[in-house]
Parts: sequence; C-alpha cells; structure tokens
Amino acid sequence: MTTPRRHLARTVLTAANGTTGAGLLLALITRTRVRRGRDGVLIAEGWRLPVPPASCFTIGSVIITRRSAEWLLAEERAALLAHESRHAGQYAVLGPLFFPAYWVACGWSYATTGSWGVRNWFERHAGLLDGGYPEELPLRPWLRRIWSGGRNAQRLRP
Ligand SMILES: [Zn+2]
Repeated sequence: MTTPRRHLARTVLTAANGTTGAGLLLALITRTRVRRGRDGVLIAEGWRLPVPPASCFTIGSVIITRRSAEWLLAEERAALLAHESRHAGQYAVLGPLFFPAYWVACGWSYATTGSWGVRNWFERHAGLLDGGYPEELPLRPWLRRIWSGGRNAQRLRP
C-alpha cells in the first residue's frame, strides 16, 4: 500500500489542501526546526510546548516531535513513523476537515473508554499499537450499564 506514487499523492494533496502549510507555519511560530523525513513527510524536531502530551503529532505532511528527527527516523521507531505517516494520509483525504473530525473522534473515544485513542477511528486506522495506544479498553461503567441494562430494564411507564 505504501508505494512511491502513493507518497507523492499524499505530499501533493496535503500541500494543495493547506494542511502541510499549517504544519510548517506552526513549526515556524514555535521555532521548531524542520528537517527532511522519509517518504515525503517532513519532521519538525524539538517541540517544547506542554501540549499535546504525545511524543509526536502530525499536521498535514509535517510530523512534529519533542525529540530529534534522527530519533524518529531510527529503525526501532519505524512503526511510530509509519503511524504518523498514516495520519498524513488522512490529512490528504480530509484536508482541514481533519481537525474537527479528529476532535469529534477523540471526544467519542474519551467518553466511552477514558482514552483519546482506543475508539478514535483515526488512531485505529493509523494503527493503535504503532501509535503506542492499547488495542482495546473496556467501555466506561456508565456505558456498560446502558448496554447491558437496555436488555433487562423495565419499560418506563408514561
Ligand atoms: Zn496517532
């Protein structure tokens, strides 16, 4: 699935829809150094703000990391790089709509499991394990009660 043509399409689409520009602008404002990555993605290294708490996040074809580009490009981080690169592919398809859609997915995942990622479609699609998320978490107790209670509960009388 990850062919050079696909990488090129991803790079062109994220440039055209403005999301890579947004990532580069953010890197510029925060004085995060942009380096060449792999397969058409750029790596902005040395992110210093406390949010988000993750070691990496992606905007367009720009992967922003608290660490160095070398750290992310190391062979033992290949899965994490692939995970973040899949987010770049999501930006290629959705463009700026990625932002609201991603936050809705985060909200749903957090409300149902207490994790931002486990039931977040974007994180599942990018690979939960590769992104450092648990693959499954139980539903929150209130939701489990609704799920199981719905079958046994008495009908409310009007
Ligand atoms: Zn992710």
